[in-house]
Amino acid sequence: MVYLDYAATSPLLPEVIDAMREAEQRYFANASALHTPGHLSMNKIEEARELLAKLINADPSEIIFTSGASESNNTVIRTFEGHKIITSPLEHHSIIEAARVLGGNEKPALYSCMLANNEIGEFLPIADVVKKAHKEGGSVHSDLTQVLGKLPIDVKALDLDYATFSAHKIGGPIGVGALYVKNGVPFKPLIIGGNQEKKRRGTTYNTVGIIGFGAALKYLLDHKTWEIYDTKIRALRDELAQRILEEIPGSSLNTDLKNSLPNILNASFEAAEGESIQLYLDAEGIVVSTGSACASGDIKPSHVLMAKTGDAEVAHSSIRFSFGLDNTEEDIDKVMAVLPGIIDRLQKISTIERKTK
Ligand code: PMP
Repeated sequence: MVYLDYAATSPLLPEVIDAMREAEQRYFANASALHTPGHLSMNKIEEARELLAKLINADPSEIIFTSGASESNNTVIRTFEGHKIITSPLEHHSIIEAARVLGGNEKPALYSCMLANNEIGEFLPIADVVKKAHKEGGSVHSDLTQVLGKLPIDVKALDLDYATFSAHKIGGPIGVGALYVKNGVPFKPLIIGGNQEKKRRGTTYNTVGIIGFGAALKYLLDHKTWEIYDTKIRALRDELAQRILEEIPGSSLNTDLKNSLPNILNASFEAAEGESIQLYLDAEGIVVSTGSACASGDIKPSHVLMAKTGDAEVAHSSIRFSFGLDNTEEDIDKVMAVLPGIIDRLQKISTIERKTK
């Protein structure tokens, strides 16, 4: 199998599997309990917290573990319920929908802006947003889910008030994430009724999941993965982009290669439908996604591609290739051995007129 869907979710790192297996056996006790097994579980949770804090230049007290990026995002939006919430058009649905339901007109405002988008990989002007928001007395949240491990992160240098992370995009387990909450900023818990996380998030600690997240964070730190992404992975991504443009008539890129995460490539193929391309590639053992996997099954074109291209046909004919550390040159060859033929077949049976013929 050629797996090119790392931005949707990533396989568990071997180090994570080992750590979680050990945790299942040794750190099963309730981490809030006062007995020794409880303390041992809590120590492991604190180790993971320190690793994330170190990785993003925060204080451990500023990290809250959650069930994932969607919960982290919802928690920040809920904190600003009734307030003016300004989001970029490229945000994940867990920001856009939560802001639509919970936003109001009270001041101060919350600005939520990702550093890089999950569907096209492109960078957003976060520094400008921070400057504007803080000048107005507002707060800033950034969903850094896709950025963790791909770029160095410094929440203090970015001057963020809140930031979101998820374990399963970095080789950790699904169902664990974190929220950075700068000391002293407003905060309302989403889950009330427990003393966990210093009363900031109720429910029994997900010790095994957090330990898995910790093992993935340690991997990022030990291997400085952002350097590997910047060199090896960027080269693979750029090579695939170039070969697509050269070898496939009617292809175009939705990702600006010079202004994006190094591991995401979104491309469109005129008069070929994204879902059909995905299925044909799947039949060849090549795993990609159409826009955002979270939104698949949705027939509406991706809001991100619509915002970026303004063209429903381009959005409907898009494929996201997202790379991880395991991808190789051979994977690119395997994709390019079949993709031109798939697109050609689809274009021949399409009722949509090709514009660039
Ligand atoms: N934000 C972004 C930018 C994402 O890419 C994703 C996953 N597609 C999420 C939030 C949701 O993450 P989780 O599955 O951890 O809730």
